[in-house]
Amino acid sequence: MAVSADRPSPIASQEQLPEFSSPHVVPKEAAAGVSLRSVTKKYGTVTAIENMTLDIPAGIYCCLLGPSGCGKTTALRMISGHESVTSGQVLIGDRCVNDLPAAKRNTAMMFQNYALFPHKTVWQNVEFGLKMQQVPQGERRERVAEILELVGLSHTAKRKPNQLSGGQQQRIALARALVTRPQVLMLDEPLSALDENLRVRMRGELRNIQKQFGLTFIQVTHHVEEAFSLSDQIVVMNHGHIDQVATPTELFNQPASKFVARFIGDNNIFLGKVLASTPHENGKDLIRLDIDGIGTLHAIGHSPQPGTDAACSVRPDLLTLENPDAPSVSSATTLPTNTLTARITQVELTGFVTRVGLTTINTEQTLLHTLRTVDWHNLALQEGQIVSLKWSANDCVFLAH
Ligand code: ADP
Ligand code: MG
Repeated sequence: MAVSADRPSPIASQEQLPEFSSPHVVPKEAAAGVSLRSVTKKYGTVTAIENMTLDIPAGIYCCLLGPSGCGKTTALRMISGHESVTSGQVLIGDRCVNDLPAAKRNTAMMFQNYALFPHKTVWQNVEFGLKMQQVPQGERRERVAEILELVGLSHTAKRKPNQLSGGQQQRIALARALVTRPQVLMLDEPLSALDENLRVRMRGELRNIQKQFGLTFIQVTHHVEEAFSLSDQIVVMNHGHIDQVATPTELFNQPASKFVARFIGDNNIFLGKVLASTPHENGKDLIRLDIDGIGTLHAIGHSPQPGTDAACSVRPDLLTLENPDAPSVSSATTLPTNTLTARITQVELTGFVTRVGLTTINTEQTLLHTLRTVDWHNLALQEGQIVSLKWSANDCVFLAH
């Protein structure tokens, strides 16, 4: 083959990759669940993880999500065995693995930069873990061939990693992790080196592979959209603690804290104090809050003591905008409607969706409303206008901390 044909193409969204073949040839391994019991990790005086307790059920796609430095990688490396725990227990299945080295945990890790051996061929890279496990040569040959076929890259077996495109390298790293037939696969920011379009495609592939193999995947990411699109379970981490464990839908509808509401993006958050509460549905309360500079708002949640500092949040798509000159549409619900007055300060047409930036009149708090562009045009409003913002108490999430 001519040298030029072997040169890696740039990491680009137009990259051509063959479809994954059906993995029926690869036997399903029993997935294992993972648990952390009061795990703490200290590096000298730095506490990276403090008293973390978590259950990840077998066979699910779990993402550890949080900003840089919150302890995601540390948590993952304690599960994989690349880092020891300072105190607490790590369980894989129902076995405590604190004293087992990484190679004995029946797990595999896919690192951020893929960590492919540059001087080994694709074949040798994929075979490496099997050699470590002292799998006999005949079986090694079969399993490497099988997994390369699965990821559609048999034809690259003789190449070196630098003769692969970004997407191909990612697949080889995945093949190398899967060939050892782990019960749990861990991935540390596996898509961060790829451009946006390729990242979106690759995350679809990761999700498919996880489903087809039925393995437990634990992925670290700081990318909210990635966590939402991949996960069965999202663990939101903040300064070495877990703030919330939830499905994507729960997280979207019911953020548990101000941190989570802010981190998952664009929620409108109001700070104030609890005035009073009355029982509502499903063990929750209708809570009346006094919001600094704005007045009374109503939210749904688990009621704390009156007088407590608290907050509430509403998603930008759940607000409605009304021209104050137009007759008000009365709502059919029996729950109170929250209303406040704001000025439109920015209008951004992003395609199907329009993002409307607003500023509250008294407190100059910045708010965001998103709506379909067609609905925005129908409202016939413009920048600088004063409007009423309304939303139901039912869409207003009470945040205790
Ligand atoms: P994340 O993956 O969420 O970005 P990390 O788990 O890498 O976060 O780091 C969590 C905290 O632990 C950070 O404050 C980081 O500086 C610290 N840390 C991580 N690894 C080490 C180490 N080997 N030595 C000292 N501090 C570390
Ligand atoms: Mg990290």
